[in-house]
Amino acid sequence: MNYFDLKKIDLHCHLDGSLRPATLIELAKLQHIELPSEDVSVIGEMMIAPETCNDLQQYLTRFDLPLQVMQTEHALERITYEVYQDAAQENVKYMEVRFAPLLHTQLGLNVEQIVSAVVKGLDQAQQDHDIQGNIIICALRTMPTDTIIPMLDQCQPFLGKGVCAFDLAGAEFAGFCHDFISHADYARKLGFNITIHAGEQGEGQNVEDAIRLLHAQRIGHGIFIHNHKGGYNAVKDGNVGLETCPSSNVQTKAVKQLKDHPAAQFYRQGLPVTINTDNRTVSNTTMTKEVQKVIEHFELTESDYHKIYLQSVEQSFASDEIKQQLKSLLK
Ligand SMILES: [Zn+2]
Repeated sequence: MNYFDLKKIDLHCHLDGSLRPATLIELAKLQHIELPSEDVSVIGEMMIAPETCNDLQQYLTRFDLPLQVMQTEHALERITYEVYQDAAQENVKYMEVRFAPLLHTQLGLNVEQIVSAVVKGLDQAQQDHDIQGNIIICALRTMPTDTIIPMLDQCQPFLGKGVCAFDLAGAEFAGFCHDFISHADYARKLGFNITIHAGEQGEGQNVEDAIRLLHAQRIGHGIFIHNHKGGYNAVKDGNVGLETCPSSNVQTKAVKQLKDHPAAQFYRQGLPVTINTDNRTVSNTTMTKEVQKVIEHFELTESDYHKIYLQSVEQSFASDEIKQQLKSLLK
């Protein structure tokens, strides 16, 4: 199989984890931010998380440097454009990129300016390259919860115009869903689709809660339903898409090694599994690498991959028209 040529869909990719090291250096220069080095390989090393981190917290420190330069509209637009460009160049045909607008207000930008810049980058990339996409708005579970509703209100005008969904991200603690019921309800009423990071760090119950309490249509990771019946059944009964990110899950010790990753097992059991990058830079990966890893490690066939591709299209938050286009690419 030629993994590079396969058509691909990425539904779980963080903007601030997917920045080109060379771009970070250029933007830092433009913005007069001093970096520890101007050598692309040194900066690249600082942006990539070790193959196995102590935990998710250590992995998350790799976002500190990118976020420093992501405080202007120009930087946000450029970085979004480049993420889509990089993905298009390896035959990703549709990608949902997510980010937390409130992490980009340090120099005074407001949410509208921030989201507008990101959507501009997406629009330009769609014009220049053979790729389509949408943006997912994240809130971090560690942020003050009273910031979420005003943020959603400011993002609402972009719904259907580049923005498609709401997500909760960041460190995962047991029972977190109970704190966000009203926020997820509010997002749904505004018209946001819902995807929630859950079951990444040992808590299968969080997956069940995200589906039953927050009405998640998809789950980021969801690994720990493998030993949690309630979470497993909620995914299965609700046909809830699992956004698996194999390399990232090894790095954060969500699984010990790739062979322990339940993605293929879930797929064979009929769960709607999708394969994604999580962070192109921090996880030092591409869709080509992720797809190759899963297919080779778990001995999937090309027809298995086509099923996963179609599941990903089905689970995407794209319009029906774009879904049809994406499906027709396999023919
Ligand atoms: Zn993620």
